[in-house]
Amino acid sequence: MIRTLKQSSLRMMNQLGIGRLVSGSEWRRRRLLILCYHGVALADEHEWCPGLYVSPSHLERRLALLQRLRCNVLPLKEALTRLYLGDLPPRAVVLTFDDGYFDFMVRAWPLLRRFGYPATVYLTTGRVERNLPNVNLLMSYALWKSRQQTLDGRDVPGLGEQYPLGTMDQRQQLAQRVIDALIGGNGGEMRRDDVARVVTERAGIDYSALLESRLLTLMRPDEIRTMTAEGVDFQLHTHTHRTPDDPQEFVRDILVNREWLQEMTGTQASHLCYPSGNYRHDYLPLLRQHGIESATTCDPDLATHGSDPLLLPRFVDTDEVSSIVFESWVTGLAARLPRRTRRGGTGVAGHHIPTGRRYSNAWT
Ligand SMILES: [Zn+2]
Repeated sequence: MIRTLKQSSLRMMNQLGIGRLVSGSEWRRRRLLILCYHGVALADEHEWCPGLYVSPSHLERRLALLQRLRCNVLPLKEALTRLYLGDLPPRAVVLTFDDGYFDFMVRAWPLLRRFGYPATVYLTTGRVERNLPNVNLLMSYALWKSRQQTLDGRDVPGLGEQYPLGTMDQRQQLAQRVIDALIGGNGGEMRRDDVARVVTERAGIDYSALLESRLLTLMRPDEIRTMTAEGVDFQLHTHTHRTPDDPQEFVRDILVNREWLQEMTGTQASHLCYPSGNYRHDYLPLLRQHGIESATTCDPDLATHGSDPLLLPRFVDTDEVSSIVFESWVTGLAARLPRRTRRGGTGVAGHHIPTGRRYSNAWT
């Protein structure tokens, strides 16, 4: 109801030309919209998890809209320099993609090249070499794929006999039980990837075919080198995609991430994206100390000259975001309207990798 009301008022304001006015205003020119994407579906991932994935046609429509609205899509570094110099062009936008999944290479990058738009990929390096699907995502996806059936849970850590998979709650609880058992060390000899394989096969999915498709799997080092040569900007997203309470531990993980990135790209990365948009204010002094120039959150807003460079807001675009809402973020109208804000700082939006949940503007 609120959503519909909001959309119709946005539509009305656009019809009155207010969107265009804001879009061409000096107010908007002093602001930067950093867009965040997670995955661009290779197959049906956007149907499974529309809060994380967009379809290729969705991304194409968004890029066409940026073009139609005459946005200036800038590389991250240039945009940040110009933001703080007060020298941004009108309707400045930056495109960022989190994690570095294979789908970026085959779905997003060809589209970006067609439009001539630069992009930053915040890469988690922990599984670029051990190049298997993300365990939590895979289990959630596999259970969704077999939602018409029951799952035989025998010999799977945390599970017993037969489990119905018909509802999201059932699937979520099931995946959570397995994940909890793995975290609790009850996985025995079965490693996380093996457990994910067993669950996938029990769900009736051909695991080898899935591996071959590279679904839910990161880019490999050779692919990251190729993408770097083609102009993709790879930046920091931690090695293990975690945000521990201890700032020292967090920074150590970033330094490993930086080393891996440097080995693959030949340059020292200094721009960070907080995993899952989670951050703690006590991270900031250490990040500064280690030469981190900027860090992005998933708190939706436009960045301004006054934004802390280590707490830069981003708007997360997903399949659940309507085109009118997206457009209102691009013009700047959305940021001028009263709204509920969701912050990813300490103790607020502590989201983690999904086990079937919806992660609109929270998980990346
Ligand atoms: Zn991420």
